[in-house]
Amino acid sequence: MSGTRKLHIKSYGCQMNVYDSQRMTDTMARAGFVATPTAEDADLVVLNTCHIREKAAEKVYSELGRIRKLKDGAARDGRRMIIAVAGCVAQAEGEEIIRRAPIVDLVLGPQNYHRLPDLLARAEHGIKVVDTEFPLEDKFDHLAPASRAATRARGVSAFVTVQEGCDKFCTFCVVPYTRGAEVSRPVGKIIEEVERLADAGVREITLIGQNVNAYHGEGPGGAWSLARLLHRLAQIPGLARLRYATSHPRDMAADLIAAHRDLAALMPQLHLPVQSGSDRILAVMNRRHTRSDYLDVIARLKDARPDMAFTSDFIVGSPGETEDDFAATLAIVGEVGYAGAFSFKYSPRPGTPAAERPDQIDDAVKIERLARVQAEIDRHQAAFNQACVGRTRDVLFEKPGRLPGQLVGRSPYLQPVHVMAPTSMIGDLRAVAITRAGANSLFGELAKPAERGPAHSPSAVTVAETVLETSVEI
Ligand code: SAM
Ligand code: SF4
Repeated sequence: MSGTRKLHIKSYGCQMNVYDSQRMTDTMARAGFVATPTAEDADLVVLNTCHIREKAAEKVYSELGRIRKLKDGAARDGRRMIIAVAGCVAQAEGEEIIRRAPIVDLVLGPQNYHRLPDLLARAEHGIKVVDTEFPLEDKFDHLAPASRAATRARGVSAFVTVQEGCDKFCTFCVVPYTRGAEVSRPVGKIIEEVERLADAGVREITLIGQNVNAYHGEGPGGAWSLARLLHRLAQIPGLARLRYATSHPRDMAADLIAAHRDLAALMPQLHLPVQSGSDRILAVMNRRHTRSDYLDVIARLKDARPDMAFTSDFIVGSPGETEDDFAATLAIVGEVGYAGAFSFKYSPRPGTPAAERPDQIDDAVKIERLARVQAEIDRHQAAFNQACVGRTRDVLFEKPGRLPGQLVGRSPYLQPVHVMAPTSMIGDLRAVAITRAGANSLFGELAKPAERGPAHSPSAVTVAETVLETSVEI
């Protein structure tokens, strides 16, 4: 392949897909492709899909309908547009995608992205390609790293996949089938990638994985825990902040909880999905913990770091969920004092045990419960944001805001914070006096150094909550 061609990748779903899309972009850059923000002028369009809920897959098919018109238009102009479907819908549906949407030339699963240049070459010869095997080789060994320029363009906060797949088999979830068994990347590769990112100006790293706190990658001396990895990454010059997502309550090991006490760079915010507040439903879900186990983990984290705030995921209308079960879910929102959460209607996924159950809940009931749980979450989120007013927060400035002269950054709790400040401060960590709270974000002014409060003050957060839109969904 030679010459410059254009690549458009549209990502659906979680941050792991965003990360994968970036790595595909970097790999295709080596094959002469430049990224384009629109599908219209692309030579290769990749839809990087999500299969976690029904609607996500349907969105892909309706997008393919739109792209068909673009592909037809390109053909009329004498231009060939190759359409690829990647990600978890590709893994789950395979050839069915080409049957349902014949404009698709190439279907590739999440473990095969490194093969994209070769698969593209085959598709260009008119062969319909489906590659959803779980290969023996590690895709990360073959995916190209981002150039310095690409890293800088992506901003001061970056995601790094450290773990993929899941062995937990929650009865509602399709991930173990689409992403495969739990695999951790080796420590050395992660350090190398994070050092390269930090060297290009990245100040904040979020380690991501479907079950990130089950991390057990090979490092010097054997398998390293996530806590040990975080301790090592915290030593990398230039890095100001570390985060990780998404965690399973069962895997919150003692050393990881202690890392929240010992590592200043590790932010006091944790996305720890509980899914349901009812022990009966947790058992049906095969979550392998009870409500009280979960609350115990929260208490230990707060002991380790009193200013911790938590976000969560909830599923309402799971098979067999009674009004009492749902009341227990509403109650846990208040008990933990969540700062925000994602909440979903249960969506039966073909091939998962929960989808086979006869006691499915009516959609009308699911809709009503979703509204009630979201209202409860919103109430706590608003209280959390309001509790920040009058306090000083460290803000990592990320990009210009909507108003001239304004920047947007993130608080330690991932809240967007809008501040009048010069663009030269992008990438800086600054103390900001919070003056106002909106529904999903904060507003503030640069604080003089003397106004700055102690970073680990237990009183820094009175309501342990954080912001919905800023949570990382994995
Ligand atoms: N590994 C994470 C954990 O154990 O919490 C969750 C990963 S999953 C990709 C993200 C979220 O999607 C889950 O926490 C769950 O709330 C939601 N989810 C997964 N399967 C679902 C389903 N069948 N219906 C509705 N929501 C679902
Ligand atoms: Fe694994 Fe999370 Fe899905 Fe459970 S919900 S099977 S832990 S990815």
